[in-house]
Amino acid sequence: MSQKEMRVIPKPSADAIVLEPEAGKLALEGNGEDTYRCGACKTRLMDKVGHMEVFHGEPFDAVKCPKCGKYNAVPDDDHHHH
Ligand SMILES: [Zn+2]
Repeated sequence: MSQKEMRVIPKPSADAIVLEPEAGKLALEGNGEDTYRCGACKTRLMDKVGHMEVFHGEPFDAVKCPKCGKYNAVPDDDHHHH
């Protein structure tokens, strides 16, 4: 289980794919080992996700934090290419 902090980004353009979970809900939940938290307020945005789900599942550009309203992108460090 690892905790990762997401990167706060400016509001994406209108054609970007933004996940907007409701308050108290997760943007993504799966069967992996990683937890992603809002880079601003540390709210959990994705839980129990793995590399496959984050990078090779449904594509998205950002997650909007339901708590603080900031847009978060997956940290660059996690972009491994195999
Ligand atoms: Zn937040």
